This record gives sequence, C-alpha cells and structure tokens, in this order.
Amino acid sequence: MKNILVIGGHDPSGGAGIQADIEAIAANGCHAVTVISAMTVQDTRDVFQMIPVQTSILRRQLDVLLDDMPVAAVKIGLIGNAENARLIARRLRRMPQIPVIVDPVLAAGGGSELATGALLQFYRNELLPLTTIFTPNLPEAQRLSEKSEVDSCAFSLLDKGAKNVLITGGHEQDKAVVNRLYDSSGKVEEWEWQVFEGEFHGSGCTLASAIAAFVAQQIPLKLALRLAQAYTCDTLDNALQLGKGQLIPLRVAGCGNGGDAE
Ligand code: PLP
Repeated sequence: MKNILVIGGHDPSGGAGIQADIEAIAANGCHAVTVISAMTVQDTRDVFQMIPVQTSILRRQLDVLLDDMPVAAVKIGLIGNAENARLIARRLRRMPQIPVIVDPVLAAGGGSELATGALLQFYRNELLPLTTIFTPNLPEAQRLSEKSEVDSCAFSLLDKGAKNVLITGGHEQDKAVVNRLYDSSGKVEEWEWQVFEGEFHGSGCTLASAIAAFVAQQIPLKLALRLAQAYTCDTLDNALQLGKGQLIPLRVAGCGNGGDAE
C-alpha cells in the first residue's frame, strides 16, 4: 500500500480537512500519513476560528515521518499561515521526484477567510513552482491569478510554475459542472459532471485526496483525474445531512469505484 503525506487542517465536523483526506485516500486504496497544520472551530455551516499549528511542531512531525515512511504523493490543503507554508516549501524542495497535489484553501464555504495576504503571495511565488497538480475552484483560481476568465486564470497559474492545473467549477450554480485541465501545452481536457442539489462541505478536499491516491498508484494523469472526479461525484450523490448546514460527502462504505478504470 502506498503512503500519501497529507498536510492540512482539522475540521471537527468531519466534512472537510484531514478527515475528508483520510477517508478519500483510504477509500481509494492508499494510506494517509497526516500532519495537521491548523486546528479549526467549525461546524457544517461555517468556520468560526482557525488556529495554525506551531511551525516547530510541523517541522518535527515532518522530520520523523519522512525519515520513517516512504511517500508516493503529497497532498496539501489548509496551511494556516505563511510560516507553515515556508516550512512546507522547504521540505518539498528536498523531494522533487514526488508528485505534489495542492488544493488551495482560501476561504470556508460559509465565507470566512482562511488565508492571509502573505499566504496568498506564498502560494503564488513559492508553492506553485513545487506543485504537480493544482486543484483550485474557479473563485480560488481567480483570486490567486488576479484574472477573471477561466483560461487566463489557468495560464497565469501555469506561468507561476504549476505543472498541471485542474480548475473545478464545483462552487458554481450552472446546469453542469465543468472541470478543466491545463498543462504547459494549453487546455488538454474538459469534463462535464452533473450538478448535485445542495451545498457540500469538503468536496475540494475529497477530489484532491482521491487524485493523490490514484496518482500515488501510478495511474496516468488524465485517467487518475477522471477516476477521482467520478469518485467525488459519487460521494456528493450520496452526501448526508449530518448537521444543520452543508451536506457531508459519503466517502466510505460502498461508494466510489476504487480504481475501476471504467
Ligand atoms: N480544510 C479545512 C480544515 C477546512 O476547514 C476547509 C473548509 O472549510 C477546507 C479544507 C476546504 O473545504 P472544501 O473541500 O469544501 O473546499
């Protein structure tokens, strides 16, 4: 079984963050090695507080884990602050052969800010050049690229160093969700998915972690992305109203295709 190093925040509602990552990674055949970069106070409606974990603790956890466990991919979610981002970037530079999936977490579904201006700059200047697959939704891509049109956003993020950019339309209200993949040669693939009723907590984490699981198993990129999107749609189709706010994707127990290439 492949290990995936996950660096992200804890959402105690169990909808997003590290718990979403663990579930999506396990459901798709890999083991999640989890370093928590921030605690949050949140429920299924909104994030009320975000508390970055001390950088010295992250450093120590990364030191001991990376000395012990080989990792086949790295997945990064909520980072917490620019100091944690700087440490993460330094560690990633030491492992250039490992695919890195970055899901930028800039704001909560309920609207609360989760990234400072310094962290946004860090994404642009330091993290994008280390990213194999960047998975922003359109508003996140627009904020980071400071462009509005989807192709321009993608080209700007690629210019900043990301190798592949998957811009998801997941937070839009259209008839179909369109997710678009770009690499340095331009737009290389477009997938259209059904829109599911309701608002979801943790759909971005689910998608990026499923991508990490398939990439870790050396499934070719486009197929890995298609399988991860199909799995995520399944989790949304079966999502549960477990609190008073957003639905929680059902990531375990009988959903997902677990790597079925069809
Ligand atoms: N990670 C944590 C810890 C969060 O609190 C959130 C959002 O609130 C996210 C990730 C991103 O969630 P989503 O997958 O819904 O974009």
